[in-house]
Amino acid sequence: MTECLFCKINEGEMDTELVYEDDKVIAFEDINPQAPVHILIVPRKHITTLLELKGEDYDLVGHIYRVANKLAEKNEIADDGFRIVANCKEKGGQSVFHIHFHLLGGRELQWPPG
Ligand code: AMP
Ligand code: ZN
Repeated sequence: MTECLFCKINEGEMDTELVYEDDKVIAFEDINPQAPVHILIVPRKHITTLLELKGEDYDLVGHIYRVANKLAEKNEIADDGFRIVANCKEKGGQSVFHIHFHLLGGRELQWPPG
């Protein structure tokens, strides 16, 4: 049995409602939203951190950006603008060690981040 939360969500063990899925990725709302739209886009494949990406995984990252654009349109944040964030390891703010991309929008986002 996997101990990884996002693998569990991918395997349907968490009753998490998916807002998007295909053969490569799932997407669902963040449980602790930081903006009116806060969706996590997660590859089905377990990759611990961005540093573990290799080979075809880089195509997967491109696919994730394609899905992010689709979800931005669908959630009506494409016109005003949005942010995609991927945190890497502790000092980058990563708390779940299965890579994921935050899609944030629906409010003015500060820059630089804290
Ligand atoms: P990060 O800190 O970049 O690793 O992001 C992990 C994100 O996962 C955080 O924004 C959490 O709020 C979110 N999260 C943790 N558990 C769940 C869950 N069960 N369902 C949805 N989002 C979650
Ligand atoms: Zn995992």
